[in-house]
Amino acid sequence: MGIKTVYEDCDILVVGGGMGGTGAAYEARYWGRNMKIIVAEKANIDRSGAVAQGLYAINCYMGTQWGENNPEDHVRYARNDLMGLVREDLAFDMARHVDSCVHKFEEWGLPFMKSAETGQYLREGKWQIMIHGESYKPIVADAARKSADKIYNRIMVTHLLMDESRDNRVGGAVGFNCRTGDYHVFRAKAVIVAAGGASHIFKPRSVGEGMGRTWYAPWSSGSAYALSIQAGAKMTQMENRIVLARFKDGYGPVGAYFLHLKTYTQNAYGNEYETTWYEDTKAMVGEYIDHQPTPTCLRNHAFIQEMKAGRGPIYMVTKEAFQDPHLEEVGWENFLGMTVSQAVVWASQDIDPKYTNPELTTSEPYVMGSHATCSGAWCSGPEDLSPEEYFWGYNRMMTVDGLFGAGDAVGGTAHAFSSGSFTEGRLAAKAAVKYIKDLKEEKINVTDKQVNDFKEEIYQPLDNYTIGRNEIVGGTVSPSYLLPIQGLQRLEKVMDEYVGGISVNYMTNDKMLERGIELLDIMEEDFEHIGAEDLHQLMRAWELKHRLLTSQSVAQHTMFREETRWPGYYYRGDHMKLDDENWHCLTLSRRDPETREWTMEKAPVYHIVD
Ligand SMILES: Cc1cc2nc3c(=O)[nH]c(=O)nc-3n(C[C@H](O)[C@H](O)[C@H](O)COP(=O)(O)OP(=O)(O)OC[C@H]3O[C@@H](n4cnc5c(N)ncnc54)[C@H](O)[C@@H]3O)c2cc1C
Repeated sequence: MGIKTVYEDCDILVVGGGMGGTGAAYEARYWGRNMKIIVAEKANIDRSGAVAQGLYAINCYMGTQWGENNPEDHVRYARNDLMGLVREDLAFDMARHVDSCVHKFEEWGLPFMKSAETGQYLREGKWQIMIHGESYKPIVADAARKSADKIYNRIMVTHLLMDESRDNRVGGAVGFNCRTGDYHVFRAKAVIVAAGGASHIFKPRSVGEGMGRTWYAPWSSGSAYALSIQAGAKMTQMENRIVLARFKDGYGPVGAYFLHLKTYTQNAYGNEYETTWYEDTKAMVGEYIDHQPTPTCLRNHAFIQEMKAGRGPIYMVTKEAFQDPHLEEVGWENFLGMTVSQAVVWASQDIDPKYTNPELTTSEPYVMGSHATCSGAWCSGPEDLSPEEYFWGYNRMMTVDGLFGAGDAVGGTAHAFSSGSFTEGRLAAKAAVKYIKDLKEEKINVTDKQVNDFKEEIYQPLDNYTIGRNEIVGGTVSPSYLLPIQGLQRLEKVMDEYVGGISVNYMTNDKMLERGIELLDIMEEDFEHIGAEDLHQLMRAWELKHRLLTSQSVAQHTMFREETRWPGYYYRGDHMKLDDENWHCLTLSRRDPETREWTMEKAPVYHIVD
């Protein structure tokens, strides 16, 4: 196949045009008036990323101007929910800027619900404000489109390029167009990775006919992590996966139900069950169980224990709230604006929440840095806030020079959500512009050899298929290649069974992890033989490889942290207690790009807010 190569030389390359990426493109233009700013996006920025379908609430808004919350309050909240461990400098930095981003969304036309009494944004909870958010994504995409020199849609970025004139400096990225097959080479002085979190690394509850129904976006393939890991960037808290209690089978969100509709949960026999597990949880985590609000993982823990005790299903009691026509409307609209599939599932299962209390379930684990957990790259904080170990020159720069992150890509900043991810994009872009200005005339050197080597590697799965296909007369099982879907199911099975997924009730230990890591290594060899039938499958092949690298990182981190810090997210059976004496710290990893060996270390947690 003759493959056309398209070159683009630019100052800033934004990889992924979701919430972080659109924020980055917008802010890069503000500070870098004459700079060339390019966005490369796997889908189409109008409807891409976790916000593609729209949202019903902006989950991170301080409301400082109304005297509601201060950034310090948000740091305390996130720290508490994450059992003490966040990057407080990054969290504070995001929180002090997030309100201004939300105000921009309103200026750009996003409709906000307002309180009839005060005229201010209608609160769903302490941090959440309610929006008519179907068009949230097209609105922020518009801001990015007006700011960037060019948006390349349908480009799956597979690797970062490295500058060959200086060690440990990024030089751009490469990928391919999922529709035309063209090979795209972006040579850039700075790269902002904002390619989202990871779903489908653990086996989902919905398999077979329901496959693709996941909580986090099914197209979030861990690229933000894999691209950074491949380049040698340090990662943090990758063990801190998230498990969500959600409406069964459709993963419909419960936030508005708890906070606005004031619905509550009970076991199969109509009893409240969280207090049943109070002593059990206290024995594992000590005083953390008494914190208010109760950390999410600990509420999950009670849910999981109650199910194990044979008193499931767990129900959300909706029958009372839905008698109020206003609340009934809000309950349905909440799904129609954000998770239509939950309404469809209920319709298909004859569930009308006015008359039937729907079931909840705990999800398979996901990996992300912007929602309620904080996996991601180890980034520098801002110079006015960060202690020495957290600061190396440019805000949100990873441990690779010129490589920045935003949103799910950045570790340590839990509870940023959509608005906080956009804010992080802006912060990263401002710093990236400064980085480029400081480079002055210094050039980035990317040789043809590097570009051509990647080209060969990227398209290999097409060759594997074309050559191997002749060996079989029908079906999908080949002696010489593996299809992306087959690889994905193998990966999900290993992660599920060995690294703490649903089928083992989120339990693992050193021996399980050891074996899991071995199996993932074997898989890495096997994935050299992935076969892609067409360009869409080529994208699937690279998504799979990114998911594998993300999974390896999760497994390594889970092995390193010898305690159960977040019961309800996962359990280390060989260390069933939280251990603040030895593990009140952040975990860091680095995979050597040459040897592929992982090294692990601890980093201190600095509490900069009292
Ligand atoms: C079900 C669900 C409910 C949520 N509810 C809320 C809510 O109510 N309120 C709220 O504020 N937040 C909510 N969030 C969180 C919010 O959506 C995320 O925090 C935010 O989207 C993260 O921003 P991001 O830029 O890191 O990732 P995303 O917005 O997901 O963007 C990542 C982008 O990268 C692209 N990409 C991925 N891989 C590649 C690649 N290899 N090459 C090129 N491009 C690539 C993707 O297509 C995508 O456009 C929710 C998320 C989910 C999934």
